[in-house]
Amino acid sequence: YLLNGEKLFTGNGPVADLVAVSATVLGEGGPKVGACFLDTSTPGFSVGTRLEFMGSRGLPNASLHFDDVLVPADQVLIDPESDQLPFLVGMVALLGRIYFTGAPAMAIARNSLAWSREFIARRSIDGRALGDYDEIQRTVTATLADVYAMESAVRWSLLGSGLTDRWFERFATKNLLVRGAWRIVDRTVSLHGGEGFETVASKNRRGAVPVPLERAFRDARGLRIAGNVDFQLDNQLGRILLGQYYADARTYADDGTQGEPGPGAGTSAAGLSPANQEHARAIDRLVGELRRFAVGLVRRHPDPEQLYAKERTVVLLGRIAGELFNAVAALARAAAAGTPAEAVPAGHQELADVHCAEARHTLSGLFARLEPDAEPDHAHISRRWLADGGADQLVRH
Ligand SMILES: Cc1cc2nc3c(=O)[nH]c(=O)nc-3n(C[C@H](O)[C@H](O)[C@H](O)COP(=O)(O)OP(=O)(O)OC[C@H]3O[C@@H](n4cnc5c(N)ncnc54)[C@H](O)[C@@H]3O)c2cc1C
Repeated sequence: YLLNGEKLFTGNGPVADLVAVSATVLGEGGPKVGACFLDTSTPGFSVGTRLEFMGSRGLPNASLHFDDVLVPADQVLIDPESDQLPFLVGMVALLGRIYFTGAPAMAIARNSLAWSREFIARRSIDGRALGDYDEIQRTVTATLADVYAMESAVRWSLLGSGLTDRWFERFATKNLLVRGAWRIVDRTVSLHGGEGFETVASKNRRGAVPVPLERAFRDARGLRIAGNVDFQLDNQLGRILLGQYYADARTYADDGTQGEPGPGAGTSAAGLSPANQEHARAIDRLVGELRRFAVGLVRRHPDPEQLYAKERTVVLLGRIAGELFNAVAALARAAAAGTPAEAVPAGHQELADVHCAEARHTLSGLFARLEPDAEPDHAHISRRWLADGGADQLVRH
């Protein structure tokens, strides 16, 4: 194969000896996506300008150029059955995404937790310890519960070493981790006030505690883009979910059930506190609601492309699926934590409770947006503004 073109944004690309390049392969049956593996000493390969990101400054990145690069056929993987990347290559990428974006997200989250504790411990405001204030206590529990939920999602996803295990959850976990890290670091910046916005160099100059929050904040933002932009991953997850219902549509009754008992997923409440049992029942009902809604959509849209064009609906379904999975993962972890006791900074039941209480608020908002009573005409408003030439219009009116 002859590889031609430019590849942007590849992590470690300018220092790599071996690169994996996904490329469009033209053929008789239409374009396909192939995975090419090549040595960077191959003639025609060159590194272009270095790219500089807002964060992740330790990650070498550059534009890579391919000018008639000859790649032997046995170094190119193509799925003969589909136009997508070969399934197993996709599974490697899925797992890789958790390691190269999820692991730093987890580190940012846990560091933010430690920095929060250190800051609260050394500050008092108006004669009261900072940790005595209601809003600060809620900030603490929100971060603790976010870290707990993130850990629960990643543990569930990586349980079992099989490459194709729990791939739906692995897909959902990337967004859960990077969004969790973003929420946490944003909250921690506010908690630290001026110190949150201040660079380490400045803190060092005046002898303040050199917490590198500003760097964590910038790094966390990039994690929501690397491995694909967050809303696009929701979109893809929503399509995967709907694809399943398209495949099975005929096996569902109108109420979304497949002949199994109860309306939901049958989430077990064993080993849970009363508050978490209630959460488990509520989540179970929402799983049933999601299924009924998805089955209804699939029935009303015989052509999947017509449905997928309604991107916001698909994105919302992806987000709901992710939130439901995370709530179930946190509850399952809490239920299993009785023996042997696993050390967490607060009680398992309490942390799962805080997470699920918040997740249910988020989920009711997401479900409400799925079927709004009336909606502004977004297509019309944006088209008119874009056609009119943009920003001046806003200033003038
Ligand atoms: C720190 C960092 C590290 C990275 N590391 C790697 C790496 O190692 N390897 C690698 O291959 N890539 C890497 N990337 C690239 C990253 O995967 C891409 O930036 C990301 O997938 C978005 O693609 P893009 O930048 O080409 O945006 P585009 O695809 O050009 O998208 C531009 C905009 O259009 C939107 N858009 C695209 N399609 C649709 C649609 N159907 N509907 C609505 N909106 C849409 C996008 O969301 C975005 O807002 C990295 C990026 C960063 C920031």
